[in-house]
Amino acid sequence: MPTDDPRPRSPGGITHRGVVRDFNRAVILGAIKAAGQLSRADLAKGSGLSKPTVSAICQSLIDEGMIREIGTGSSAVGRKPILLELDPGGGYAVGVKLMESSFVLAVTDLTGEVVASGEAALSAGDPGAALRQVARRVRALVRRRNIPAERVLGVGVAMSGVVDHLAGTLAYSPVLHWRSVAVADQLEAILELPVVVDNDVNAVAQSEHWFGLGHACQHFLTLSIGRGIGLGIVVHGQLYRGACGGAGEFGHVVVDPHGLPCDCGKRGCLETLASDPALTRAVAAAAGEPLSLEAAARRARAGDAALARVFADAGRVLGTQVASLINTFNPERIIIMGEGTRHADLVLPSLHEAVAEHALAALRERLEITVGAWDDLRWARAAANMLLSSAFIRPMSMVEQAPGTQQVSTIRRVPV
Ligand SMILES: [Zn+2]
Repeated sequence: MPTDDPRPRSPGGITHRGVVRDFNRAVILGAIKAAGQLSRADLAKGSGLSKPTVSAICQSLIDEGMIREIGTGSSAVGRKPILLELDPGGGYAVGVKLMESSFVLAVTDLTGEVVASGEAALSAGDPGAALRQVARRVRALVRRRNIPAERVLGVGVAMSGVVDHLAGTLAYSPVLHWRSVAVADQLEAILELPVVVDNDVNAVAQSEHWFGLGHACQHFLTLSIGRGIGLGIVVHGQLYRGACGGAGEFGHVVVDPHGLPCDCGKRGCLETLASDPALTRAVAAAAGEPLSLEAAARRARAGDAALARVFADAGRVLGTQVASLINTFNPERIIIMGEGTRHADLVLPSLHEAVAEHALAALRERLEITVGAWDDLRWARAAANMLLSSAFIRPMSMVEQAPGTQQVSTIRRVPV
């Protein structure tokens, strides 16, 4: 990347769209992050970079306050090596999770720990005004928590819909009702910081891979249920976004071509049968009156068979489609997340039954279906982690290999 690149750049070396300026530097940071503590010799060995190159990069990262020395490690012979770790206060990332009528903010330190958070109502009607509102809140949160502005590496924004991650644009969101919005450009112009944008389920899948339920999994799916139904696909440890960022629009798989109209303009999508709005409709029909899903779930748990059937039916429809995912991707784990997990106890039994009925037995043997706790902040943290992961690239030789997986490549060497 040319050194006279005029695009926004933060102290972390992240440029516009989260493309790192210095690949080798990102590899060193990623290796330290993955291992926790490493010596310079470990870094040279694991990254394939020369010892002088590793030493020069480490010194510059120490000078910038991104990493620090923490005493000595063990060595069978000779001098004990000095270990390096990330300096948590060396940089901060802001994450924003945009929803239909609100947004959640999280500021994380360099290690991904949340140090500040906030939430606000969102008027999504005018995208430009909504993004200006988000920018004001980001600035206010950073200022209020006394986070040094020069240490803020950038902002990650996660939202539902088809997002072109590289272009930083939202192509279409049925939830926000936005089309062709240059989210990254608009926020960068206001905040003068690098901004990365992604689909919210992609962001959370990547974050779970780094920090959470997908850690050490090379092939897993993150299924989000609730207001919409989305899918994050991780294959060989890498997020799969598809040709234009739209991979994982699982909620718009057609279940009934003659079914109800969907927010996307088509008919009979999975979301028309198993999303929270679909459940709300079915609950009203079963109860003969409008009910919140919380109230319906309480009644179902107390023995209302008609309402229990509504949740079970949604679980069965969902499970049948999840079986197709299992047959297509052969994942080792499926992580179910989103606000819909509040009713997981009512939905999961029939979902499991449908999976058992429709997924190939051989593919179910090593499959684990797990439910993540519902927490908006977890999604905002995931958005911040998108930004951090732009600064951290894990060398493949240092990535944990799950049994039965193959290492797909070794580190790319880039001269410094
Ligand atoms: Zn649809």
